[in-house]
Amino acid sequence: MIQKNPNANQIAADQMIPVAQPDLGGNEEKYVLDAVRSTWISSTGAYVDRFEKEFAEFCDSKEAIAICNGTAALHVVLMALGCGPGDEVIVPSLTYIATANAVRYVGAEPLFVDVDPETWTIDPQQLERAITRKTKGIISVDLYGHPIDADAINHTAGIHGLWHIEDAAEAHGGLYKGRPTGSLGDVATFSFFGNKILTCGEGGAVTTDNSQLARRVRTLKGQGVDPNRRYFFPVTGYNFRLTNVACALLCAQMERDKEIITQRRKVFSLYDQFLEGIPGVHHQPIAEWAVQAPWLYSITIDPKAYGMTRDEMAIELKKRKIDTRPFFTPLHRLPPFVRESEARNEHLPVTDRLASQGINLPTWSPADELTIKRVSDAIRDIQAGA
Ligand SMILES: *Cc1c(COP(=O)(O)O)cnc(C)c1O
Repeated sequence: MIQKNPNANQIAADQMIPVAQPDLGGNEEKYVLDAVRSTWISSTGAYVDRFEKEFAEFCDSKEAIAICNGTAALHVVLMALGCGPGDEVIVPSLTYIATANAVRYVGAEPLFVDVDPETWTIDPQQLERAITRKTKGIISVDLYGHPIDADAINHTAGIHGLWHIEDAAEAHGGLYKGRPTGSLGDVATFSFFGNKILTCGEGGAVTTDNSQLARRVRTLKGQGVDPNRRYFFPVTGYNFRLTNVACALLCAQMERDKEIITQRRKVFSLYDQFLEGIPGVHHQPIAEWAVQAPWLYSITIDPKAYGMTRDEMAIELKKRKIDTRPFFTPLHRLPPFVRESEARNEHLPVTDRLASQGINLPTWSPADELTIKRVSDAIRDIQAGA
């Protein structure tokens, strides 16, 4: 018998505060057990169908396709769009490496553009300048849950005949001018990794209104099989399927999507309140047209005003048993991309500043006020002592 810790969300004063933990407090256990007992543990089953239907509704999209993880979701979409060697794809440099890795998987090259200081997402003003004759599309990222400026990006994409993939891995439940994240480009990808807003441990999804594209994604994620002819493979595909067991977890998460998101929003507003007025601590800006998806609460540390750098603060927090994450290292500075980026003379000052000052604070559902207070007080005390 599995023992449930009734206070799993409450962290004792002498315990490490993790940066993230999944909320599996609903029917997760029950549905996984049900999947196991039914013997439908591979990639067909009732939970897969149910999840795809519910997730499409969640994103206000015609189609949702379950994929084994968020990186494979990006990869399969790029293949389905016909992206390949010689093509260029515009991506932000301030994102998780999967966004650019997927471009390399198909033999194409990522071009990096800067982010807007007011949204931390791709700066639409920078797009025009980055486009070359080889550019085929854009992958935008709803970074740290903030929706992209979709109309501006789609406008530029439309003028130049580019496709637009929205990487919504960090943005389950965000809104752009009332439209849900996951419906803002031609196609979107999601991750359900253990630290994401909704999770099944490892998992992903593709959402789109384009049924032809959805069909291609389904073919490519299942070894390229012809949906009407068993063991006939018209194209080379991959095995990017997600299991019915993982979808059982996701169905339980989808039953509590609003609850999980509301709980995380509560964490956000507690941080807003507790961190108020600490010199050098700045909130993530939220555009007036945006409703942020509450992933990891993110702040920047201005070292002059705070009295120490982000990294020094993180070390101090670690001493107080508080785990944090620095922002992503800009992709244009990482070994797989730096040479090509320098050759293109890419200068991304906003990305560089945010990457050196930004930090993600512990965030999960359900909200635990004492833990959030402990983190916030530590940030205040460290500053006062600096
Ligand atoms: C998490 C994440 C991914 C990758 O998802 P996986 O499921 O871990 O493969 C892709 N893009 C962004 C922006 C992410 O945060």
